[in-house]
Amino acid sequence: MAKQNLLDLDREGLERFFADILGEKRFRAQQVMKWIHHRHITDFNEMTDLGKALRAKLEERAEVRVPQIQFEKPSTDGTHKWLLGMDGSNAIEAVFIPDKGRGTLCVSSQVGCALNCQFCSTATQGFNRNLSTAEIIGQVWVAAKHLGNVPHRQRKLTNVVMMGMGEPLMNFDNVVRAMSIMRDDLGYGLANKRVTLSTAGMVPMIDKLGEVSDVSLAVSLHAPNDELRSELVPLNKKYPIAELMAACERYARRKKGESITFEYTLMKGVNDQPAHARQLAKLMRQFDNAMQMKDAAKVNLIPFNPFPGTRFERSSETDIRAFQKSLLDAHVLTMVRRTRGDDIDAACGQLKGQVADKTRRQAEFRKRLEAQTGQGDEGAVDAAA
Ligand code: SAH
Repeated sequence: MAKQNLLDLDREGLERFFADILGEKRFRAQQVMKWIHHRHITDFNEMTDLGKALRAKLEERAEVRVPQIQFEKPSTDGTHKWLLGMDGSNAIEAVFIPDKGRGTLCVSSQVGCALNCQFCSTATQGFNRNLSTAEIIGQVWVAAKHLGNVPHRQRKLTNVVMMGMGEPLMNFDNVVRAMSIMRDDLGYGLANKRVTLSTAGMVPMIDKLGEVSDVSLAVSLHAPNDELRSELVPLNKKYPIAELMAACERYARRKKGESITFEYTLMKGVNDQPAHARQLAKLMRQFDNAMQMKDAAKVNLIPFNPFPGTRFERSSETDIRAFQKSLLDAHVLTMVRRTRGDDIDAACGQLKGQVADKTRRQAEFRKRLEAQTGQGDEGAVDAAA
């Protein structure tokens, strides 16, 4: 019989495993959760408040299998990136970003991504598969251990954003289960609003998320009209802006005072012109009005992070400032997300890991890149070496 990886189970699943499979008391599951997520212990023999017989039983039926660190790299600005091996051929990236008074971990949900957003490096890698719950929460485990994080005491990890590789809403069940461990007191004890799920706009799944979870929602908008958005984010052809905004409204309505963050990556000459800012402001004001709340929509401007082979460029500092000012003048709460960790390719849209691509997109991209530069893109291989 295959051993059950306990990292795949949230509190409810673990309690069921103890009661139904092991024939033990449910509260034992809670002790084990603390050993795993608070003390980062994976060896049952070190779980000293469990009886010898139970430890032996666990040894036989279960395991705590964490992602294997293939490579890690600290940035000069305190950002830390891990390349984590998920199986023989795939690796994903997780990034820790410390900031005044908080520490944010950026977590991946899939090996590669199927959505093909034009300006995202992960897209060029193609897609292989969804990550399991264990592989998602395992990223948090690795970072928490590295940081010496103890929930409620030495809390170094204060926020998680599902903004790494992949589209989290395309891996719904595993992501929701992993987020439940992040928020559990016996897991990482993060408040609902400190766990953020970012989506490119999977409309039906936003509604489904609203039924089961209370996390913060971020939406990757990147363009204020359908014509441009469909070009940059192909998913827009399926779920255009009006439908997306309506889904955001339904999500925000569930809870009083709930706001939604709209991410907007600024690319020179593509979506950073004054007319775009005006259109975006209008869209955001409409959202505030519909919610009858000031700042129901928040805009997060992300200066584009380049990667080899991309046809886009970062907007100039002047244009970024002007774009922000235009929104602020229209009373739209707007922040500029300053790039962190770009010296280690850990910035938004730069994560790529190692993807055993099943879509052939990687091969096509490499071919294009070779034609452009006379050389392939060996970044992922270099990083792993
Ligand atoms: N698939 C999800 C999760 C990825 S989040 C989503 O689309 O929201 C990663 C964030 O970084 C998204 O807002 C994404 O659009 C943005 N991003 C992607 N590539 C980027 C790049 N090259 N520069 C800056 N931001 C980028």
